[in-house]
Amino acid sequence: MPHLYLHVPFCVRRCSYCDFSIAVRKRIPAREYVEAVLRELEQVRSADPGAVPRGALKTLYLGGGTPSLLPPDAVSTLLTSLLDAFGATPSRDAVEVTAEANPEDVTPELASVWRRAGVNRVSLGAQSFDDNVLRWMHRSHDAARIGAAMHALRGAGIDNISLDLIFALPAELQRDWERDLDLALSLLPSHLSLYGLTVEERTPLARWISRGAVAAPEDDRYAEEYLLAHVRLAAHGYRFYEVSNACHGDARSRHNSAYWSGRPYLGLGPAAHSYDGRARRWNVSAWPAYARAIAAGRSPIESREVLTPRQRELERLYLSLRTDAGVPRTACPPDRLTAWAGEGWVEVTAESVRCTPQGWLRLDALVRDLTDAGVVA
Ligand code: SF4
Repeated sequence: MPHLYLHVPFCVRRCSYCDFSIAVRKRIPAREYVEAVLRELEQVRSADPGAVPRGALKTLYLGGGTPSLLPPDAVSTLLTSLLDAFGATPSRDAVEVTAEANPEDVTPELASVWRRAGVNRVSLGAQSFDDNVLRWMHRSHDAARIGAAMHALRGAGIDNISLDLIFALPAELQRDWERDLDLALSLLPSHLSLYGLTVEERTPLARWISRGAVAAPEDDRYAEEYLLAHVRLAAHGYRFYEVSNACHGDARSRHNSAYWSGRPYLGLGPAAHSYDGRARRWNVSAWPAYARAIAAGRSPIESREVLTPRQRELERLYLSLRTDAGVPRTACPPDRLTAWAGEGWVEVTAESVRCTPQGWLRLDALVRDLTDAGVVA
């Protein structure tokens, strides 16, 4: 597969809004993790040598969890072995190698080891520049660490840096979204990912809301802050190329763009998903169950599903509308086009239909509208 994802499940604590598949650990079992992932790669390769094609890797993404909790030498071993298995050379930067990091973990030493190991893009979990908000989120860093982490990364030669920010927080936090955007922009990241807060079951946030300690996020605030971000980022030369992602120049995430355009990918590690263009499969999500399966020489795959042509078409439609590629004009019934364009939800060109920021706010409804119109048989 030309795109490889690695799930690093470890975190030192659970953030208040997070329902990801993670393993909260004080001591990170780095050696066991690296061995397990490399053994899984061997399992995949023996079952299907074509899944690990030499010379064809385009992107590698270390996500989590918190990849930056792994000791730098463990990341170095992991990346060297993976790139080598795919016949890629870290020094040439032909492969986009992204690692997610939390600001508190990024030191000059980590940055230079990562750079030497082939990392050329870092996605930094900034979330906010307000220390009260960061404490409320149960994040481990303070605002000052974000700039320090970017400085360390740039000092090591990693200039392609994305910042994650969360918006639409409960009103009582009095979070100043405009200030956070301005502080993020002042650091000149090449890329920004902006996510609206969602309340997931079984998170501390869901519990706080259910006992009335915090008000649920409001839809109006979500729309207001999302649209403000579009205005602010456009004024600084950023372009939204996907509903939640904006970049300068050509600094799009090539890895995530592969997902959005329906390309095949291989996932390794607990909870990782893989897709071969027809079927999707996923690994057991708990780290202990994953580690046991690998140690016993068993496959860690929990389940798989073959997508029907209709499911594939629906997915293609949804993913295309998420991005600035949009869908072909011929895919939309003319009455829908007229109605949507009249509301300002889409831009229509001779070939394509693309969401405006207002359209992205109601993406699910637009896709439902198309399926109700019988666009997907
Ligand atoms: S650091 Fe990321 S993955 Fe870990 S708990 Fe926080 S939000 Fe979830």
